[in-house]
Amino acid sequence: MSKSEDFQKELENLVKEKFGSNIQVLSQAFGHNPNPKESPEQPEQNTKPTSNEDILNFDKKPKEVKAYLDQYVINQEEAKKTLSVAICDHYNQVKFFSNLAEEEKKNHPYAKQNVLLLGPTGVGKTYMVKQLAKLIGVPFVKADATKYSETGYMGSNVEDLIKDLVQQADDDIEKAEFGIIYIDEADKLAAQGSRHHGKDVNGRGVQLGLLKMMEETDVDLRAGNDPSAHIQQFMEMQSAGGKLPEKVVNTRNILFILSGAFTGLEKIIDKRLATNSIGFDSRGKSNKKNSDLLGKVTTEDLTEFGLEPEFVGRLPVRVTCKTLSPDDLFHILKNSKESILRQYEVAFEAYGVNVSFTDDALREIASRAYKENTGARSLLTIIESSLRDFKYHLPSTDITKLDVDKTLIEDPKSALDKILAKASDKKLKLTSEIRDFEEKYFERHGIRISFSEDA
Ligand code: ADP
Repeated sequence: MSKSEDFQKELENLVKEKFGSNIQVLSQAFGHNPNPKESPEQPEQNTKPTSNEDILNFDKKPKEVKAYLDQYVINQEEAKKTLSVAICDHYNQVKFFSNLAEEEKKNHPYAKQNVLLLGPTGVGKTYMVKQLAKLIGVPFVKADATKYSETGYMGSNVEDLIKDLVQQADDDIEKAEFGIIYIDEADKLAAQGSRHHGKDVNGRGVQLGLLKMMEETDVDLRAGNDPSAHIQQFMEMQSAGGKLPEKVVNTRNILFILSGAFTGLEKIIDKRLATNSIGFDSRGKSNKKNSDLLGKVTTEDLTEFGLEPEFVGRLPVRVTCKTLSPDDLFHILKNSKESILRQYEVAFEAYGVNVSFTDDALREIASRAYKENTGARSLLTIIESSLRDFKYHLPSTDITKLDVDKTLIEDPKSALDKILAKASDKKLKLTSEIRDFEEKYFERHGIRISFSEDA
């Protein structure tokens, strides 16, 4: 029995239960034809002009891709290089396989280059992947691993990710099949503590669900328990004349990139390195920086951290992003193509105010943001809190230029007071000029006028 028939049957039983057999569900009204032989011709499935040729003609080289990322992403050299290679490999494979006959494909086993990105928050992990998806022109979705549950009853089902990807591809399933899925907080899927100490059943279930998708599986977009999906199907069934067109997405060519801070993993790595070598101190530690340690991660460490070995096995490309230094943060402001400074320039320009930032100001912002420990995310917060009152007051004055320097960032209130005081000076000067003009005008007509101080 097809899904639409299932649904029809369920509905009939429900109505029967509630109203008895006196009331019937009119099959035709629900698009179900009791005599399938008499089904009207089904309309052709929406065949949009394919926009996937570019992907199938993929011809970028890793150096080119990295050079593109360099314009946006500051530092993270190793991650940019690794991702550029992984992306090129992936889409070259997609192109290669698309030219093979089904039979030939079986003779070319291919392990997908899914990526695990390790590193603290706000250092450009998502940003890099987003830029890559933009460069290649494939749909991209980002989700937090914590949002999913094994069954989907509490939280979303992992297969919802595919539905989101299709939505991002404007319902073009073929395009969605080339997309990139980015899952943040993947470390939260690990069992609490070591995998030897009781597993987090839910996280494990989600890992298994993802594992299937990361390799290759068909995801039926019509599956799901939520009532809204049923209503949606019902409406589609009606408009399609009673039969639901198939909606299955194959995940073979979808690239999965998982990320997380993996706090505590460095200790596991450190311990392993310390026991395996003689270069450790009296406390059994190898005296390495956290990001250096994460760079040495192995499958064994990740399993020890609490991830399933099969799951880790589907993430063969691993790379660590570094904590951003104050100098990196300065360069993000000054040199990144999408620096948030542009957004401030536009915002002030809208009121006729030309805003510019001195390097000292940018260094001060970077140094304050660094102390917040949330990577580049704090840059916006610092600038926003420093310039908020300027944005409020300046548009109502005749000021046309704002130079943001270090002292302004250090004490925005005093800087604003000074600027506003000058602005009113300017107005007073203007008033006295007008007064002189008025007095002279009336004098020429033989009338003497004078302005009191109050006026
Ligand atoms: P996460 O590493 O947590 O995924 P994001 O990539 O979302 O962090 O970073 C948040 C924002 O900070 C980005 O949208 C981008 O504007 C900025 N940013 C972070 N790191 C960098 C970087 N290395 N170079 C340029 N901008 C960055």
